[in-house]
Amino acid sequence: MTMRIWYPYTQMQLMESPLEVVDAHGCTLHLKDERELIDSIASWWCVIHGYNHPALNRALTEQLEKVAHVMLGGLTHAPAMDLAAKLIEITPEGLSHVFYGDSGSVGMEIALKLAVQYWANRGRPAKRRFLALRKAYHGDTCGVMSVCDPDDGMHALFKGFLPEQLFLDAPTPLEDAGSDEIYRDIVTLNEALETHGDELAAFVAEPLMQCAGGFNMYSEEYLRQARRLCDEHEVLFVFDEVATGFGRTGAMFAADKAEVCPDILVLGKALTGGYLGHSATLATSEVFEVFLADDPKKAFMHGPTFMGNPLACAVALAGIELFEREDYLGKIARIEALLREHLLPLESDKVKDVRVMGATGVVDVYNRKSLEGLQTFAAERGVWLRPFERYAYTMPPYIVTEEELLRIITVLREWFAG
Ligand SMILES: *Cc1c(COP(=O)(O)O)cnc(C)c1O
Repeated sequence: MTMRIWYPYTQMQLMESPLEVVDAHGCTLHLKDERELIDSIASWWCVIHGYNHPALNRALTEQLEKVAHVMLGGLTHAPAMDLAAKLIEITPEGLSHVFYGDSGSVGMEIALKLAVQYWANRGRPAKRRFLALRKAYHGDTCGVMSVCDPDDGMHALFKGFLPEQLFLDAPTPLEDAGSDEIYRDIVTLNEALETHGDELAAFVAEPLMQCAGGFNMYSEEYLRQARRLCDEHEVLFVFDEVATGFGRTGAMFAADKAEVCPDILVLGKALTGGYLGHSATLATSEVFEVFLADDPKKAFMHGPTFMGNPLACAVALAGIELFEREDYLGKIARIEALLREHLLPLESDKVKDVRVMGATGVVDVYNRKSLEGLQTFAAERGVWLRPFERYAYTMPPYIVTEEELLRIITVLREWFAG
């Protein structure tokens, strides 16, 4: 195999030939060798409407005939304006301004920069560090790498190069989180805020479900208490909903489920249904207004070339309309019920834990070796699964049929039965 393409998260010397996709429809990937695979992970969680959706295709081609791209500096256009209005409408009340970016990582970089400058503009430049959680994953660019788990995450090698942030243990997993455990987590959070509040710009978290750092699902109560403490200690609260946003935890946003409004909320992945890379970083008017001044130095100096790309905004808008019109929350509830009924009971001496939240099902194993070969095993049975670390999981497109989902679950059950 030639190695012209350097593949992601891959030891190239050991890589087997990647499967070549020629086209895809619904939940199905069609391979060059004529096999068909059900995509159980929605292409890293973004393809929530399935592939080749007529409504999204139409939105894109209609926009394409008008304009594919214009800069957002000094110019604007209906797709960017309409999407901003829609995002403000559907996110928790209080978030009222949208800054576009071109990927989840960039959306999070924007959130961190906003938080630091928010305090600088308020005359408190010492507040420039971040409090984050172990098991967190916030992206692969250098700023946000510093708020990913510094030891067990994939960026441990870069310690010393990255700014040193402050970390708390991941919140107690939901199934073990009684009021005592939550209380203990909150006391720890309170101590960190009390001790370091003067140097902290923000507390950064993936709300309710930490994803790529270990699929830790935790309680709503933790977020409610954290909101209260952040206010008390004057530290901004940033929600990274790049993965949890758009229904993945069972509500439109994890923030809705927890009934907590962050100061800054970041959306990506499913925002564009997997058609184009884009992100939206939303802020409250309280945050926004701190950047308003006669002084140009107080402006936010950021502007990715492709921010607010008309194609991305048009497809995002069509996706949100579809989400609302076709009762996606109902579809997600059905997926969750099936995962609870058929995946949750999976037992094996290799399996440490099985967890389900919304349209996410995770099998957590003791030893990552017990997942070696699962990707090929699944592909031979018509399912695209891509386990990582100790996790085999499904986060399917929301249009997945019952039959397709049961097929995914059966493959997982067969693997662990073998
Ligand atoms: C995937 C992910 C990111 C990074 O998004 P990219 O589009 O890959 O840059 C950030 N935060 C979370 C929670 C993610 O899951």
